[in-house]
Amino acid sequence: MFDTLSDRLTAALQTLSRKGRLSDADIDATAREIRIALLEADVALPVVKAFIAKVKERAKGAEVHGALNPAQQVIKIVNEELVGILGGETRRLNLAKNPPSVIMLAGLQGAGKTTLAGKLALWLKKQGHAPMLVACDLQRPNAVTQLQVVGERAGVVTFAPEPGNGVGDPVDVARRAIAEARHAQHDIVVVDTAGRLGVDEELMKQAADIRDAVEPDEVLFVVDAMIGQDAVTTAEAFRDGVGFTGVVLTKLDGDARGGAALSVREVTGQPILFASNGEKLEDFDTFHPDRMASRILG
Ligand code: GDP
Repeated sequence: MFDTLSDRLTAALQTLSRKGRLSDADIDATAREIRIALLEADVALPVVKAFIAKVKERAKGAEVHGALNPAQQVIKIVNEELVGILGGETRRLNLAKNPPSVIMLAGLQGAGKTTLAGKLALWLKKQGHAPMLVACDLQRPNAVTQLQVVGERAGVVTFAPEPGNGVGDPVDVARRAIAEARHAQHDIVVVDTAGRLGVDEELMKQAADIRDAVEPDEVLFVVDAMIGQDAVTTAEAFRDGVGFTGVVLTKLDGDARGGAALSVREVTGQPILFASNGEKLEDFDTFHPDRMASRILG
């Protein structure tokens, strides 16, 4: 029995490294270990299967040569494929030629959207931008106040509906916010939207209406890395209901191994742009495929 995946992988690869050349049986045995590793990291099964098939094909066709022994060669292939699926290079934010750029956040309630809005605002500010937050989550009690609080902590302006006017229309708030951003010379607008505990049609329609009203340069799907396999169905629902151009993975400070990243990237084809790894506004960075590959492999 192996306690951790890395033990298991290391043991499998050590057996390989003692051999002079890579046989099909060696590759199959290693592939089995990698398959278990990925499943334990919560990567969705169809994604695991496709990945393993690709690795096997490459490994079987590979010449054993040069400085690498067979085990190192398999590791290299697995790593390259994993980093490739995770997006290779970090993708930068698409910004509008004529400001303000609009970045809309979408995702389930609790995914970390509001927190992310503050993190992103602070990060953008440090890059020399003048961002404005927009409170379009008018469903959840306190969501507006929570956004105003993170906005204050990040030192940015938050546009919110005036209190005392009932629930208000998030589409109208979004439209007025863009006009205000233009007027006050904010070059980036970050729109926080409502989430639900589960995917529902009303949520999707509202997000789609906001999207149509503000024509965002980016729609970022915010997903909690801890939800593991559920990330795939959630991502598919948001892809079909709202559409998104990039992914932000949150709660990577937890013990999730990050399989959600691989699944969401592979299933939706959209890049992961940022990673959130804590409750503080500074716990945030651009996404690094190579670091995530190591984490997934354990
Ligand atoms: P929203 O409903 O999508 O707006 O989610 P919130 O931003 O309100 O976040 C839900 C909870 O997750 C809050 O308690 C946040 O403090 C917490 N949270 C958000 N991002 C992270 C993260 O990266 N790591 C951890 N540990 N907690 C986070």
